[in-house]
Amino acid sequence: MSILVTGGAGYIGSHTVVELLNIGEEIIIIDNFSNSKPSTLESIKEIAKKEIRFYEGDYTNKETLEKIFEENKDITAVINFAGYKSVGESVQKPLEYYTNNISGALILLKTMQKYNIKKFIFSSSATVYGEPERIPLTEECKTGGTTNPYGTTKLYIEQILKDLYKSDNSWDIAILRYFNPVGAHESGKIGEEPQGIPNNLMPYIVRVAGGQLEQLSIFGNDYNTKDGTGVRDYIHVVDLAKGHLKALEKLNKEKSGLYIYNLGTGTGYSVLEMVKAFEKATGQKVPYKIAPRREGDIATCYSNPEKAQRELNWKAEKTLEEMCKDSWNYWKF
Ligand code: NAD
Ligand code: UDP
Repeated sequence: MSILVTGGAGYIGSHTVVELLNIGEEIIIIDNFSNSKPSTLESIKEIAKKEIRFYEGDYTNKETLEKIFEENKDITAVINFAGYKSVGESVQKPLEYYTNNISGALILLKTMQKYNIKKFIFSSSATVYGEPERIPLTEECKTGGTTNPYGTTKLYIEQILKDLYKSDNSWDIAILRYFNPVGAHESGKIGEEPQGIPNNLMPYIVRVAGGQLEQLSIFGNDYNTKDGTGVRDYIHVVDLAKGHLKALEKLNKEKSGLYIYNLGTGTGYSVLEMVKAFEKATGQKVPYKIAPRREGDIATCYSNPEKAQRELNWKAEKTLEEMCKDSWNYWKF
């Protein structure tokens, strides 16, 4: 029995693969390295001390996928991390985003259907909630009103999965809505590697602390939040990775179903709190200035993670200090 992981060389995929290998699962990865590098695969094997089967290729390519399913008759489930994820870039290149994310998911699902493999875990995002109906966000909150093509791809794929399940309820699907993943594996061997200047807060903070970027711009200090800066639900990537193991356990236990879970901590931290926590955890200074609000940002977004706790027996365990320390530790080496 093995699990096919698309995008397994990426940030969240690599951490999830390590955790899956640690519990004895056999892993097959397909990745085209459009946002990752081959050495990550070596690091995964070093950390877990296990082998993986790897295909370099594009998951939007039907022939490549068919070859994988033909050559690996033991695949029982698929976790789909592959996709593009930059909000800003998606505004510039909507067709690339819709093609890679939505066509990719469709071709993958059609190929799974052909080979009668119906367990599927999908990387969704808190962005599907758009402007939050209420805080903390529960899975029942309304979705929609996404403000960029990236978010819209997640929303549409969720809809495709719901329609698919309605048409054939022998599918077994988990939609996981991630909040803000940060941190890295404690070994310092795998972590997040954004190309160019990072858009996200934690990778930006790390590069300012390391002297690669001059100062952090805090996007707005006039939001209706505790200190005026934006509030988010930061979650350690290893906790997030473990959420996938629990989701898989759930799919293996149930005959079929479609399940949606928030994967977050349930605690919101402001940008200023993140800067202070990072400085305290690492002893590094993070110079910052207040800049105008970033277009499309919301004031506050954090989860109610109780459903995942109740139904998956999963709870984020790592502290904010660990998130900061591990992010820094990965960057430093
Ligand atoms: P990532 O870019 O680090 O990983 C994605 C991986 O997929 C990369 O290794 C990339 O090379 C690969 N890939 C992309 N297109 C491919 C294709 N056509 N064929 C084969 N491989 C391809 O991103 P991540 O942060 O690990 O995110 C994983 C998933 O989680 C994505 O779907 C992302 O949208 C979703 N997500 C991420 C976040 C976040 O903040 N990181 C939040 C919510 C949801
Ligand atoms: N943020 C910031 N400066 C940056 C990057 C982000 O002030 O250089 C803020 C952003 O406005 C938001 C929070 O940090 O309030 C988290 O932003 P990120 O892009 O990491 O995640 P998302 O907005 O997708 O939740």
